[in-house]
Amino acid sequence: MNFGAIGAVIGHELTHGFDDSGSQFDAQGNLRNWWTPKDREQFDKLEGCFVKEYDSFVAVDDVHVRGQLTLGENTADNGGLRIADMALLDVLGNAPQKSIDGFTPEQRLFVGWGQIWCENERPEFARMMAGVNEHSPGKFRVNGVVGNMPEFQKAYSCKPDAPMVRKPACRVW
Ligand SMILES: [Zn+2]
Repeated sequence: MNFGAIGAVIGHELTHGFDDSGSQFDAQGNLRNWWTPKDREQFDKLEGCFVKEYDSFVAVDDVHVRGQLTLGENTADNGGLRIADMALLDVLGNAPQKSIDGFTPEQRLFVGWGQIWCENERPEFARMMAGVNEHSPGKFRVNGVVGNMPEFQKAYSCKPDAPMVRKPACRVW
């Protein structure tokens, strides 16, 4: 559970050091872009998938999530949970995977990710946040990310046409 919660948040922050925002600062923390034009071009190409995907999510009523506004954070969420999953598998090694309350370790990682973004908000607030918050609504921080992960599909034995299996699955990290 902790790998999927604080572990994924730490992973999220780590990716910021290497994304469009981290690319502006060199290893000494000086404001100096260290990406080549080719790096930028390839990054932008992969990110286009996230823009389209998150644009398709409905925040409230007729208001959609803004894929461009939330792009950096969505990319970090997607990379962060993947890093956390890799860390979990690394720690587990070849040890037998013990289920707790009927959930395997990897299933619990995804439950942990779901739990940290639980929220309850009025439609008016959701509408306002969709316009100004560079983070996606909690529901899509969860469903948007796990739908892109074959790891999730495998952990929960989702059929290829299940609603939580995105096609195409977007990935930067
Ligand atoms: Zn972030």
